[in-house]
Amino acid sequence: MIDLRIKVEPLPIEDPLIVRLRNEADDLGPNDAILIGTDGARREYDFQGFSLTLHATDGVALDNDVIMVLPGQASARRLIRADSQHNTFLITEQCDQLCLMCSQPPKKNHVDLFAELETAASLAPTNAYIGLSGGEPLLHKKKLFSMLLSLAKTRPDLKFHILSNGQHFDEVDIATLQEIGPERILWGIPLYAAEEELHDTIVKKQGAFDRLIQSFAILFEAGAAIELRTVVMRQNDVNLPALADFVGTALPFVERWAIMQLENIGFGRMNWDLSFKDTSVDFDNLARAINIATARDVPVQLYNFPLCSVPVRYRRIAAASISDWKNRQEPFCTSCSARQRCGGFFEWYDHRKGFRGLGPI
Ligand code: SF4
Repeated sequence: MIDLRIKVEPLPIEDPLIVRLRNEADDLGPNDAILIGTDGARREYDFQGFSLTLHATDGVALDNDVIMVLPGQASARRLIRADSQHNTFLITEQCDQLCLMCSQPPKKNHVDLFAELETAASLAPTNAYIGLSGGEPLLHKKKLFSMLLSLAKTRPDLKFHILSNGQHFDEVDIATLQEIGPERILWGIPLYAAEEELHDTIVKKQGAFDRLIQSFAILFEAGAAIELRTVVMRQNDVNLPALADFVGTALPFVERWAIMQLENIGFGRMNWDLSFKDTSVDFDNLARAINIATARDVPVQLYNFPLCSVPVRYRRIAAASISDWKNRQEPFCTSCSARQRCGGFFEWYDHRKGFRGLGPI
């Protein structure tokens, strides 16, 4: 697993520090630290005349990475890995839903780091694609939109993928969304069933389905791009064909429909035995749903499905969707000819409780 934290020697700081690590001293800005020496894992940087010392595994490239050092912490967060397309900022850990499969269960407190995250984004490589996730980022909508508006002006090349539960869009947001630039954001928004009661039960919030439908109308009016996301579970597997029908009829404007496998962490792990649907041995409802959506011209993608768990006919829509830092393969993958194309497994996948129908292709 790629380490998203780097050990840092203590600094006498009172506020969070955003630093871009540079190997070359050209065109330095106020947040740039320049590498002045390495000694094994120890890397020493000059930052505004002070020494900043990190301990990173040998061979890890840090040039142009952006890190955040918090007061009193012995490790820095790697907010931007310059050579990766899988950089995500955690906006908040608060959320107003309690989804059965949530991989990042909500917490009560919010640590406001919008100013720091905006600085970090402004230091990202050209054309970077940054994920914003939570919790529910739109619980802090005013600050989030203000950050996006500001970055739209200073870094119009950046694009964002924002995960949201779709419970907080209002009509007054349409103008703001248009000002930020609809082409700049892909909204990843979950819908688990076409049946109001089932969706509300899965996200554990009464009225969530209705509010979501209102939000889709607002996003449609704003011209926003939507990645509709549905996690397959035992609770909704049989309802997938009806959901495909609904998506094709009521939401044909979505950019794509991402149908996802369960992640074995957070509430997903807690509810694994009740919720994990082994689609490697029973793909029937999913296949019907894909066929219906495809016939309605809705682009479908499968996320988090190992390639060999998917019938041959549908493998072309199975994306290698698991972020590089949390991705791995199983021992039996060694002899597989599809290793390069396959999305593999989450680092925390437990094969003893997982897919029963896998094997090298
Ligand atoms: S054997 Fe491993 S690499 Fe091959 S398709 Fe299955 S999960 Fe992917």
